[in-house]
Amino acid sequence: MKKKISIVIPFYNEEEVINHSYNEITKYLNQLENQYNFEIICVNDGSKDKTLKFLLELSENDPRLKIIDLSRNFGHEMAILAGLENATGDAVITMDCDLQDPPSLISEMLKLWEEGYEVIHAKRSKRKTDSFFKKISAKLFYKIFNRLSSTQMPENVANFRLLDKSALDALLRFKEHKRYYRGLSVLIGFKQTFIEHERNERVAGKTKYPLKKMLRLATDAILAFSSIPLQIITQIGILISFFSFLGITYALIVKLFFSEYAVPGWAFTTIAIFFLGGIQILIMSIIGMYIERIYTEVLNRPHYIIRAIYENKK
Ligand code: UDP
Ligand code: MG
Repeated sequence: MKKKISIVIPFYNEEEVINHSYNEITKYLNQLENQYNFEIICVNDGSKDKTLKFLLELSENDPRLKIIDLSRNFGHEMAILAGLENATGDAVITMDCDLQDPPSLISEMLKLWEEGYEVIHAKRSKRKTDSFFKKISAKLFYKIFNRLSSTQMPENVANFRLLDKSALDALLRFKEHKRYYRGLSVLIGFKQTFIEHERNERVAGKTKYPLKKMLRLATDAILAFSSIPLQIITQIGILISFFSFLGITYALIVKLFFSEYAVPGWAFTTIAIFFLGGIQILIMSIIGMYIERIYTEVLNRPHYIIRAIYENKK
């Protein structure tokens, strides 16, 4: 019996790329058709354009397509999760829909999978199509993340990856709401490897990751994989207490033994107030971020909501 492979692809306002991407991806899948059965799970992440319509049109002629229509935009991570939870293959491959993840790599991934690897990450060897800012910010992010977390994130690995069924089952046991898929896929263990590739330009359309979303993903990643910020603020607290103690001793000595020199030290007072006020706000905001996570976990809302699943059972 042929093994079944699920391809999970999230779509958010991607009407400009769908047809081209579909042709390109299926071109490579067709070459592997005599070895594997494919299921292409397209997750429509609350697109406001014609994405869903175009996907439905494609599925009329292609029974491999399974369309999961989310009730609104839940974000990239949740869209991938919805796809993963609905995948029925012996292995699943996640990739972006804009052909920045070259589909030619799929056959290589499957080869490595047949050799016994259970998690295969695609790693961008160069980022020459990325802007200068994206390159620098990515470098900085991986530096900070790997410093702070005991799970070491390989650099330049995004969401293009193959997971064996066993690895997928393990991954889906992580129920956290603020998910960081690439981190979790390393955390689960199993036999992991990389394939290097060059990242292409987006075929059409604009990035759906403005700076704000990128920063959000980076903080979510760090907060999910590290409690070191909490330890750092404890250390800052100890340090400040130490200096405060020195300051108090100094003030007391001046007051008790050199009272003729004691000046109304308003400068010292105001500096101390500003300094402590600033540090306190910083510390509270870090604690606040963790509390926010506790809050969302306690709410335990559904990760995503499906409006409908379309399957062409021809
Ligand atoms: N995406 C999504 N929901 C979102 C944002 C993005 O499903 O809220 C999808 C998008 O359609 C694409 C993938 O996630 O398939 C990656 O997005 P994009 O290419 O815009 O990110 P970039 O490659 O610029 O980092
Ligand atoms: Mg992209």
